[in-house]
Amino acid sequence: MQKNDIVTVEIKDIGIGGEGIGKVDGYTLFIKDAIVGDVVEAKIMKAKKNYGYAKLMNIIQSSDERISARCPAARQCGGCQIQEMSYDSQLAFKHEKVRNNLIRLGDISPEMLDKVMEPICGMEQPFRYRNKAQFPIGRTRDGKLTVGFYAGRTHSIIPVPDGDCALGAEENREVLQIILTFMEKYKVEAYNEETHTGLVRHILIRKGFTTKEMMVCLVINGKTLPHSDELVRQLTHIEGMTSISYSVNEEKTNVIMGSCIKTIWGKDYITDYIGNVKYQISPLSFYQVNPIQTEKLYGTALEYAGLTGKETVWDLYCGIGTISLFLAQKAKQVYGVEIVPQAIDDAKNNARINSIDNADFYVGKAEDVLPEKYEKEGIYADVIVVDPPRKGCEEAVLNTMVKMQPDRIVYVSCDSATLARDVKYLRERGYELERVRAVDMFPQTVHVETVVRLTRKAQ
Ligand code: SAH
Repeated sequence: MQKNDIVTVEIKDIGIGGEGIGKVDGYTLFIKDAIVGDVVEAKIMKAKKNYGYAKLMNIIQSSDERISARCPAARQCGGCQIQEMSYDSQLAFKHEKVRNNLIRLGDISPEMLDKVMEPICGMEQPFRYRNKAQFPIGRTRDGKLTVGFYAGRTHSIIPVPDGDCALGAEENREVLQIILTFMEKYKVEAYNEETHTGLVRHILIRKGFTTKEMMVCLVINGKTLPHSDELVRQLTHIEGMTSISYSVNEEKTNVIMGSCIKTIWGKDYITDYIGNVKYQISPLSFYQVNPIQTEKLYGTALEYAGLTGKETVWDLYCGIGTISLFLAQKAKQVYGVEIVPQAIDDAKNNARINSIDNADFYVGKAEDVLPEKYEKEGIYADVIVVDPPRKGCEEAVLNTMVKMQPDRIVYVSCDSATLARDVKYLRERGYELERVRAVDMFPQTVHVETVVRLTRKAQ
């Protein structure tokens, strides 16, 4: 097989990045945007010894699972990977991905897993679920102002058709149109990454789904935004507008937000709810992007924690305390641990505005705080909840959890491969996998969250 060869392939499998996988004479090809059941014509772009990458040229026979993408930019844009798969098949793919990882990397027998794994929790409406969007602004080659998203892996901006992303809030479109018109009128230049010139880099928009409050923050390569009064006047016509600000970012960097925020109209934050817990969200706050599924995910974590009101619970990697505050309503005492000091400030503030006084928070690395507190203070836990980043838990965390002997460990994970690795470690040290559930937090993308409950085996 060689570069530029055109082949006909039947797609038999799906890769971890959502790409279709098929074989031609025993040679494996990965084809973006092809889905299981398609027969496609594809052009080889990169040929390695045993496998290659090919570009979808033509669908000869369409899979039963194929639907037309809602967004015309679905293939070019890096945001969605599997918009052309029916939602049911997306859910089946994600459920299987978690199941396979637990079998392959977690060393769990399929028979045993099928007894404890529950159906994946999907969305009724798998579009318009995101409460946050960050749109880069630039100019097209022919000099037009453009707003959109980055293409997968590169920084070329894929314009969002009509300024409307199918995953985001409907209001985003109007916000973007107002800002673009304002920029044209007052000759406010878009940022150019290559020359490090121009002013407006990104537009951050957030919406409280429960409260309908809107926030707009312009990220600028400069210290002030000229004619901002005019922009404010226009943006405040949008229903729910609560906070307008800009963020100064003059660095040559891929980091989107600058560290300093200046509110130019309204409040410094918007308010939103997950379940009945209230959160104040500023432009820099971490906050889950799909509030509807977050409630289901943390509801599952709460259910798996099996709280009666008497328990002491540790919530490791607690972020702004979303899970901690959810659990605090049903536990005696919750302790949260998180590495980012700003997130802990938010967690404490969120506890305060909800009058939750049985949640305390510590800044530090889970792998430092937990062993230290255990060894020096002999801390105790009935239940430990972890929600680590993709790389999973450090061994020092797992090891200390085993020593602390909580009755239950609830593990929330955004990467089922590292989850499976850590579950294996815990199963080899006295814990049994009792419940598993995947939750679809990001429909149309390949990402999937998982919650599991591990229970200490009777000695
Ligand atoms: N449960 C949280 C989000 C968890 S995301 C919520 O819903 O808000 C993972 C979190 O782990 C992030 O907030 C990240 O800052 C934090 N983190 C990453 N490495 C860490 C470490 N070594 N120790 C503690 N926290 C860490």
